[in-house]
Amino acid sequence: MIDKTVLKRLTEIVGKENVFDQKSDRITHSYDATGRSYLPDVVVYAGSAAEVSEVMKVANRYLIPVLPRGAGSGFTGGTLPVQGGIVLVLTRMDRILAIDTENLVAVVEPGVVTAELQRQVEKQGLFYPPDPASKEFCTMGGNVAECAGGPRCVKYGVTKDYIMGLEVVTPTGEIIRTGGKTLKNVVGYDLTKLFVGSEGTLGIVTRIVVKLLPKPEAKKTMLVQFSTIDGAARGVSEIIRAKIIPTTLEFLDASTIDCIRDISPVPLPEECRAILLIEVDGDREIIEKQAVRIMEVLQPLSVLDTRIAENAEESEEIWQVRRSVSSSMRKINPDKFNEDIVVPRSRVPDMIRALENLSREYGVPIVNFGHAGDGNIHVNVMVDLREEGMEEKVHNVMEDIFRTAVELEGSISGEHGIGISKMDYMGMEVSEITMRYMEKIKESFDPNNILNPGKIFQKPIAAEGAL
Ligand SMILES: Cc1cc2nc3c(=O)[nH]c(=O)nc-3n(C[C@H](O)[C@H](O)[C@H](O)COP(=O)(O)OP(=O)(O)OC[C@H]3O[C@@H](n4cnc5c(N)ncnc54)[C@H](O)[C@@H]3O)c2cc1C
Repeated sequence: MIDKTVLKRLTEIVGKENVFDQKSDRITHSYDATGRSYLPDVVVYAGSAAEVSEVMKVANRYLIPVLPRGAGSGFTGGTLPVQGGIVLVLTRMDRILAIDTENLVAVVEPGVVTAELQRQVEKQGLFYPPDPASKEFCTMGGNVAECAGGPRCVKYGVTKDYIMGLEVVTPTGEIIRTGGKTLKNVVGYDLTKLFVGSEGTLGIVTRIVVKLLPKPEAKKTMLVQFSTIDGAARGVSEIIRAKIIPTTLEFLDASTIDCIRDISPVPLPEECRAILLIEVDGDREIIEKQAVRIMEVLQPLSVLDTRIAENAEESEEIWQVRRSVSSSMRKINPDKFNEDIVVPRSRVPDMIRALENLSREYGVPIVNFGHAGDGNIHVNVMVDLREEGMEEKVHNVMEDIFRTAVELEGSISGEHGIGISKMDYMGMEVSEITMRYMEKIKESFDPNNILNPGKIFQKPIAAEGAL
């Protein structure tokens, strides 16, 4: 329950129409894409950095947890109010403030939906590359907080490569600015980079300066079917060895193909055990040559069939194959545990083989697809939690998956972050001493531990919230 005095003060800051304490409103802000749910005490929609600042000051005074929230599409529980408190929604702040065609930057508020920014800059012949699959609904604030990636990362990098400057409200309510519109800036510590990927635990992003690129002239999409996963994996190395960096280089393993065979717009025979979905972009002439060269290097590698899109509709049909994956997996089993490990590109075949072995050893289906070009594999352990002992089995299989990724010089998360889902496993990758430095950074920004407490770090690191 939120104290009446606090409720009154929040209402004064953002207006009555932007404060919600009814049970139904609290329920609709209690979950994210993890499917887990924790009730907040109150939901506040902020309209400006000044309002966010005032809310933080109230929260500090009364030691109330604050959870920044964009679209709530996070996969690791980052916005969930595990200790109750104020869910602070940033979607009212949804203006594109500037598209600067001379300096190739845009300035946006955190509630701008990623795909909307992309559409607006493309109208001016420009390009904002980071493309999470959730881009039609996730927000730029959430992307900054999670350092979102997507299929285009192989060639263009992730969100952090495009964030030049930020306005941030600190947990204690100060408004600070980091970086700016210049490509070069070495004045003091790079706080912009520190905030990107900090999962809403160090500050609330209220304004973002992003780097833009000229829009590529054209793109070409290809779908290649292989009879073995090794053929596909070697194909990835061969493409890179041929000095071609595709825009996207996605793979689907045999278990994924089995899930989508019935609904795929492209026929997928039983012998097809792996797929590479490849897209190149740039000057029309160059990408035509690259497509031919890619086909040449792949041909000797157990290729069953190739399809090159000749127009936008055919390209869309190929992408449909990839998009049909998520919705078709539940026909294997009702419960999905989805992780996003990443390994060096050359270790993808080792990781896939290890996943196949773990699937056999534990007797649980594991469906794998993802970004072969940057080694980021979406691993989906499909189970029925109603089966006795299944929860423990899932925990053990996850632990083995994360351990294998780290042993292969990879990481337990490429894009989705730690949140609450991966806290137990962070110690596999980050040493105790490194963790202590991270905790000290958190303490110096947030002495009362009120901004997104109970995330990333195992233990509460300062005063517990008052609720
Ligand atoms: C179908 C689907 C596909 C997805 N595909 C991808 C993908 O391809 N790549 C990828 O990287 N992710 C993907 N995601 C995950 C998710 O969309 C991203 O993590 C996204 O960046 C979250 O944005 P959001 O606005 O929904 O943030 P939320 O879920 O609301 O919040 C996520 C985190 O950001 C913090 N936060 C939100 N706004 C702010 C702010 N203004 N200031 C400070 N902290 C803030 C929150 O506290 C929380 O910790 C996918 C999710 C779904 C459901």
